Amino acid sequence: MISKEIQSLVRPNIIDLKPYKSARHEFVRTKNSMLFLDANENPYGKFNRYPDPLQTRLKNIIAHIENVSPEQIFIGNGSGEIIQLICTAFCIPRQDSVLTMPPTFSLFQIIAQTHEIQNISVPLTKEFFQLDTTSILNQIADKNPKIIFITSPNNPTGNSFNIVDIKQILNYSKGLVVIDEAYIDFTEQPSFKHFLEDFSRLIVVRTLSKGKGLASARIGIGFANPEIITILNKVKPPFNVSTSNQETAISRLKNTDEINYEVTEIIKQRQWLMQELSNFDFVVKTYPSDANFILIKVIDSNKLYRKLISNGIVVRNISGYLHCENTLRITIGLKKENEFLIESLKAIENQ
Ligand SMILES: *Cc1c(COP(=O)(O)O)cnc(C)c1O
Repeated sequence: MISKEIQSLVRPNIIDLKPYKSARHEFVRTKNSMLFLDANENPYGKFNRYPDPLQTRLKNIIAHIENVSPEQIFIGNGSGEIIQLICTAFCIPRQDSVLTMPPTFSLFQIIAQTHEIQNISVPLTKEFFQLDTTSILNQIADKNPKIIFITSPNNPTGNSFNIVDIKQILNYSKGLVVIDEAYIDFTEQPSFKHFLEDFSRLIVVRTLSKGKGLASARIGIGFANPEIITILNKVKPPFNVSTSNQETAISRLKNTDEINYEVTEIIKQRQWLMQELSNFDFVVKTYPSDANFILIKVIDSNKLYRKLISNGIVVRNISGYLHCENTLRITIGLKKENEFLIESLKAIENQ
């Protein structure tokens, strides 16, 4: 049963929607205990069977690692799919709005526009890229956005937001609050998954694309109260995550030592790179980072971007983003890659 509180947020046409049910929803294929003549699959071959539509094994492992229940987990084909499905299930086009805080991940705004959902944009504060809570609370009071998207640590700025500010928004909002924790592995800030029991309208979105190193497998994770997960299951494409991607994720997540080693190295490299970058005359500012990238402000970002390209190095020119004039976003690479970057910058400086 869906509570009145959540039901009042769901798009009305979704409430009565009967989700697509494959026979495989009832009988997940386990070894050869059953004869499967239900899904028009080819009986030959290795890749002939449809995947588990609800990703049961993967959810069980994530539940164990993250100390949540499998019923609180949704798996998407990348976290972008989860964000899209949240909008599909909860927002009424041309009526509802979402609230975003630029400069941030541009996908929120793109998905809102695709769905004909108004995007209320409340810029981060100019100097420290923090949440402008006064304006956000005013907009909530004024427009009651259906979804508020918060990315912490934020992309492209790299910083985490003040927890007190996020909590204030959670307490004040009457709609859903989505906290995108794509970079949570690189920060000491606590995850908001610990507040799932306190806030029934909270959705924490994660990805295996960054700290877990599986960008190619396209696995996004949503943590929320089981009622929200039930709603998302209604609108999801039935077989949204392939069997091989589910298996890749399972074996990677079991390898915690390897993941921890890599993340520790990346954080060490971030510290080194931050120090090195701040020594260049053309670097006006390095922004503190809780993520696996560093945002820098330079004298002329277009010129430096082109020079790096001619040295065979691709970084991201962020200058088009609000409050980000003349900035570049640099992803932390392997030690030797970061060293090559610094050598190239020295050569550029001496030109
Ligand atoms: C990289 C990133 C993601 C990851 O998206 P996937 O579709 O899971 O690869 C999500 N949110 C933010 C803010 C990101 O920077």
